[in-house]
Amino acid sequence: MIFSVTTMGTASAMPISDRNPSAQMLNANGRLFLIDCGEGTQKQMRKCHFSFVKVEAIFISHIHGDHLFGLFGLLNSMAMYGRSAALDIYGPQALGGVLNFYKSYFGTEDAFDINFHPLTSRSLEQVHTSKCLTVSAFPLHHKIDCYGFRFDETVTGRHALENPSYKAKSYAYCSDTAPFDELPSYVKGVTCMYHEATYMNEMEEKAAARFHSTAAQAARCALQAGAGRLIVGHYSSRISDVGALLAECREIFPGTEAASDCDVFEF
Ligand SMILES: [Zn+2]
Ligand SMILES: [Zn+2]
Repeated sequence: MIFSVTTMGTASAMPISDRNPSAQMLNANGRLFLIDCGEGTQKQMRKCHFSFVKVEAIFISHIHGDHLFGLFGLLNSMAMYGRSAALDIYGPQALGGVLNFYKSYFGTEDAFDINFHPLTSRSLEQVHTSKCLTVSAFPLHHKIDCYGFRFDETVTGRHALENPSYKAKSYAYCSDTAPFDELPSYVKGVTCMYHEATYMNEMEEKAAARFHSTAAQAARCALQAGAGRLIVGHYSSRISDVGALLAECREIFPGTEAASDCDVFEF
């Protein structure tokens, strides 16, 4: 079974020439799940050869622009490509108003319904089930209401019979957050997790003031969670040497990889 993540945007608030703002695509056996949708996401989807109409659901972590500003363009393109299947969108309560604004000005003739599911999870809570996976949301510790997502593959009947030793895969997305005690338990034992690493360790004070994490904090979370692999991203525009940030992560969690735009991680 295919289980992969493509990091389509690895910048933080300020995009730079080779880094788009946050967006990732989880591919679970051909079913596509979009996680965050920063400005330019539809162009990144083109680059990475993802169909606009095959996205089954969209998960928005919070309503800071670098995680959201690409949504209107993408919804519009889905309509232009003749999407008719309803689209599930998950996000904080405040996203409802943003989607209503889109619908009233730009989406009046769209042929597909948007089913908005406001998130209110105060701990790990299952929010979406699909043919091949379940998705749970969990709260993060950011300046505004913000959620992470955990995707657990479900191995169904025939596949389980054919290969009884097959180990179901899982992926967790820890969007913008300062470290907090409960986070490792929400992502416990995942095959792979993404955690933002906006700053190098020397900028810990700035990270705390802005409710973000440093390289070491991201790595410590993965270590405490017992994750198989760690992917970091959401780099501050001031970070030109991602290799140095990666080295700081690997001191604590050797299985760290630093994402670039359009990297594909297969599990
Ligand atoms: Zn951000
Ligand atoms: Zn943010």
